[in-house]
Amino acid sequence: MEDNHLYQYSLLNALMDGVSENGITVKKFLSKGNQGLGTFVRMDGELLSLDGKVYQLQSEGRVREADLEDQIPFGITTNFVPQITKKVKLEDKTAIDRELDIVNNHSKNLFMTYRITGHFKIIKARTVKGQEYKGQPLSELGDKQYVNSYNDIEGTVVGFRSPKSWQGFSVAGEHLHFIAKDRSAGGHVLEITAEDVEMAMATASNIHIELPTSNDFNDAKLTMDDEGIKKVEG
Ligand SMILES: [Zn+2]
Repeated sequence: MEDNHLYQYSLLNALMDGVSENGITVKKFLSKGNQGLGTFVRMDGELLSLDGKVYQLQSEGRVREADLEDQIPFGITTNFVPQITKKVKLEDKTAIDRELDIVNNHSKNLFMTYRITGHFKIIKARTVKGQEYKGQPLSELGDKQYVNSYNDIEGTVVGFRSPKSWQGFSVAGEHLHFIAKDRSAGGHVLEITAEDVEMAMATASNIHIELPTSNDFNDAKLTMDDEGIKKVEG
C-alpha cells in the first residue's frame, strides 16, 4: 500500500447486520498499514493496530496481542505518514475535528487519519462484549458494552475521519480507538480530554475496499441505519 492510502475490509453496514463470522487474517491486515481500527470475529472486542502489531481490546478493559492467523471481519488501516505534527490541547472529542479542519479545510469530503500520543487527562472508552449468537446486529451489542474511564493515562489514539456521505460504508465522522502505553487498557473512545498531546495528521484521498465473498455478506440487507450507527459508533 502507498503512504496514506486507506485499505478497508468489508463495510460498516455489514457489521451492523451482524456479518462477522470470518474475514482477512491479522497477517494480511498488517501488510496493508501501520495503524488501523476494526473488530474481531463475532465482534469480540475492539481492534487497534499500531506499528506492526494488532491488539484486541477486550471487554472489561483487558488487552491481548492478536495472533497472525486471527481473523478480522471489518477493519480499516493505512500506512500512516504524517503530513503535519503539532502539540494540541483537547477539551473534548470535538476539538479533534477542529484540529483536522485547521490542517486541511478542504477535507470535508476527503478522509483523514491521525495519531495522538502523550498524557491524557480523561479517556472514556468502551469495548463491545461480542455476539451472543451468529448474526446478532451490532446495534444490539451497543446496549451491552463495557465502558471504563481512565484518568491521567499515557497512551496512543489511532483515528480516522470519514466524510458524511460515507456513512454505512465506514463510520462517518470521527472514529478513534485508544491503547495505554503499557498496553494494560484500551477501547473505542467515547470521551477524551488532554492538556498537551502530540497530534500527527494526514489527508487520504485513496481508499481501497475489499468486500467479503461469504454467503453471510451476500445475504445481508446492507441497508443504512444512520441512527443505529450513531448510537453504537458515535
Ligand atoms: Zn470503534
